[in-house]
Amino acid sequence: MKIQLTNTLTRRKEPFVPTDPKRVTMYVCGPTVYNVAHIGNARPPVVFDVLFRLLRHAYGEKAVLYARNYTDIDDKIITASIERGVPIAEITRAVEEQYESDMGALNVLTPTHRPRATENVPAMVAVIEKLIANGAAYAVPSGVYFSVAADEDYGKLSGRAQDDLKAGARVDGEDDKRASSDFALWKASKPGEPSWEAPFGAGRPGWHIECSAMIEEELGSPIDIHGGGIDLIFPHHENEIAQSESAHGHALARVWMHNGFLTMDKEKMSKSIGNIITPRELLEQGWQGETIRYALLSAHYKAPLDWNDELLEQAQKSLDRMYGAVLRLNDAPDVDAEPPAAFVAALADDLNTPAAIAELSALVTNANNAKKPAEQAQAKADLLAAGALVGLLQSDPEHWFRASFGEQAGEIDALVAARVAARAAKDYAESDRLRDALAERGVEVMDNASGSTWRRKG
Ligand code: AMP
Ligand code: ZN
Repeated sequence: MKIQLTNTLTRRKEPFVPTDPKRVTMYVCGPTVYNVAHIGNARPPVVFDVLFRLLRHAYGEKAVLYARNYTDIDDKIITASIERGVPIAEITRAVEEQYESDMGALNVLTPTHRPRATENVPAMVAVIEKLIANGAAYAVPSGVYFSVAADEDYGKLSGRAQDDLKAGARVDGEDDKRASSDFALWKASKPGEPSWEAPFGAGRPGWHIECSAMIEEELGSPIDIHGGGIDLIFPHHENEIAQSESAHGHALARVWMHNGFLTMDKEKMSKSIGNIITPRELLEQGWQGETIRYALLSAHYKAPLDWNDELLEQAQKSLDRMYGAVLRLNDAPDVDAEPPAAFVAALADDLNTPAAIAELSALVTNANNAKKPAEQAQAKADLLAAGALVGLLQSDPEHWFRASFGEQAGEIDALVAARVAARAAKDYAESDRLRDALAERGVEVMDNASGSTWRRKG
């Protein structure tokens, strides 16, 4: 299978060729676990989950190694701990659990590795020692800094020229660094802050070195794919490249991929602006995880995606249509199927999820038109195999419709059961009355050999 991916480093869409097809490696920067993730934070894990699924399909499940970290030590976490008067580990573990639960609801597969920064500090110290030894970094009282001037090709990912790097807003407490663009690898310990011993003085790691070290620990470099949101290109990923390449003498990652922003009213969703919605809020409002996932995949990953209720309503409608087709073919026997070629080709073309969803929709039409039992079985299997490759249609269809009616589902069940009883008793007036009552609630009843099922009317 030919997979093409847009590489931020080369600014081109190019064929993806892993270093070793038996060991395909991918790293995605994970959440900073000081506060619950919002729906914008969920975009990278969902997008790269689709890539993970596609790579597993292409190279085999065991051949793909995917690491997504937890940044569980950071200024924001320390501040949150002080403000709330709660120990750091208590905050980070609770947020991690919430994150895992949200990702589960969005059908995100568990990555192969989920390293925590705090559990990999010795690896970070080792990289920093290497950088000091080869002149790429220097220690001063406030910490250890990477010397940007010592790195000739610094700026190659973001396209920023060294001269432009006024990135210069000086950070408090970093007065002794040599150049404003130099960045912290290690921050000398301050009273009341967590710290680790190191040959260059007790302290804690900077954010960028965490990812460089965890990539080396979990996967070894160069990795095939490194991903994250577009806001991470500079400085985070630029700095990961600078550190890792200066320490190891070879590339950190061959393909760099970045998802566009999720916005609301065209403004980036972010905690600092305060325009956030969390997956939990949406789930509590009654939206299903898969509906949220579908909405997140409805735009190409590189494009911005504007979030609103209409997007969710549209996603729910499309999924209802898909589940309706599966439900109608509930009695068709299960047969094995590979995801259809046109569907896979859409995904393999730089993860074109809108095109893949259009193919999925064509498979629904196909399923709805299938007449012969063998055709029906095949159409259902095609649809489900395609769905699985993007993490959709993972629910039992009856469960899907029940869940989308929330608390009303029980009452609908009772009406359907009463109608089945009326029909059995040949009380057709009552049976018609119940059908109308159900129709009023937006429910369509489908009678088939194994009984009656219901779904939301299309
Ligand atoms: P953070 O927890 O802020 O470090 O962000 C975790 C991930 O979410 C990073 O890959 C960010 O690039 C990504 N991210 C943050 N905000 C958005 C947004 N509004 N849209 C898309 N991705 C985002
Ligand atoms: Zn990172």
